Amino acid sequence: MKLIKNAQVYSPTPLGKKDVLIAGNKIIAIENDLSECINNIVEVIDGTGKILTPGFVDSLVHITGGGGEGGYATRTPEMQVNDAFIGGVTTVIGALGTDAETRSLENLLAKTYGLEEQGLSAYCYTGSYHFPMISITESIKRDIMLIEKFIGVGEVAIADHRSSQMTVAEMARVASEARVAGMLSGKKGIVLIHVGDEKARLSKLTRVVEQSDIPISQFYPTHINRNKSLLDAGFDFAKQGGNLDFTTSTTEQIIEQGEIPAAKALAMALAKGIKIAQLTMSSDGNASLPIFDEQGQLIELQVGQVSSLHQSMVDAVKDFQVPLELALSAISSSPAGILKLKNKGQIGVGFDADLTLLDSDSLAIHTVIAKGQLVMKNEKTLVNSPFS
Ligand code: ZN
Repeated sequence: MKLIKNAQVYSPTPLGKKDVLIAGNKIIAIENDLSECINNIVEVIDGTGKILTPGFVDSLVHITGGGGEGGYATRTPEMQVNDAFIGGVTTVIGALGTDAETRSLENLLAKTYGLEEQGLSAYCYTGSYHFPMISITESIKRDIMLIEKFIGVGEVAIADHRSSQMTVAEMARVASEARVAGMLSGKKGIVLIHVGDEKARLSKLTRVVEQSDIPISQFYPTHINRNKSLLDAGFDFAKQGGNLDFTTSTTEQIIEQGEIPAAKALAMALAKGIKIAQLTMSSDGNASLPIFDEQGQLIELQVGQVSSLHQSMVDAVKDFQVPLELALSAISSSPAGILKLKNKGQIGVGFDADLTLLDSDSLAIHTVIAKGQLVMKNEKTLVNSPFS
């Protein structure tokens, strides 16, 4: 058992100074003072001067690596479990990307199981950028229904030269298969959509919604902050009830070319009156971030970092005056709600003991607890690689 004492608790709703008691991998009590529970089997963690938040939920990470669009040498490496923990992330959802030929769903699923063994909560999406959809059981419906870790399908690419140029009817069929599989298995069956630079923007999704009874919330479009016109299209999509995800991994050059930092996009969306439950940030961790010279030649590749999720939350608070509880919601309760992840993304009795302690002033990550286990303490990770 663990008792976190005297922390300012953001569930992400601010609850004030509380004691939080953990038994095994669950939160079992939240009270003003739980000192009477202290005995020799309870480990006490002092939260004085700290903020206790839900462990962060990162709804898009290329956990088996991504990239490759600059040739084989540009395939990015796998995520390591401590890449998540140092960023306060305790839940990840893994996806393939552009390359579903040399990378496989079987590999993605094995990596998901491996991360789970190492203490992270991990899920994944079946399918990839491309249509027809790849799957393990030869059906995305069967994958979602029969394989526990698959919570939906994605990233399905639209408005991108790397996409399969799906028709509206094909998109509707994918969404309905994912939806029915979700209904039958108690999952969301979400359709995570990679949105590219093309001017069609989100129109494929709105046309599916117009032409069918598939609710707009079945879709979860990401990279909405990649340029101003897509962001504006996203705001219209959200006004119809759609969810929006902003990507936190970026470079100065990408920002100079017109991408809106995720923290700023979040502030803009809130100013438009869009509900926080519809707004999330994800890292796109381990995606490739190419840097080009003035002639358009690739000169350097960077790799997206899961830790950019926490940094963007801090930026939203410090640079764009987003209230802390809303900035935290965008990386905890909102993605957990959109993806229908049970017992994730909130601090509450009966919820999983996934917790992050932040410094009250700097919001730096001090301690991380995942499924009840200390995985980072005093800014040092505690999970060793099996190869060290
Ligand atoms: Zn993408």
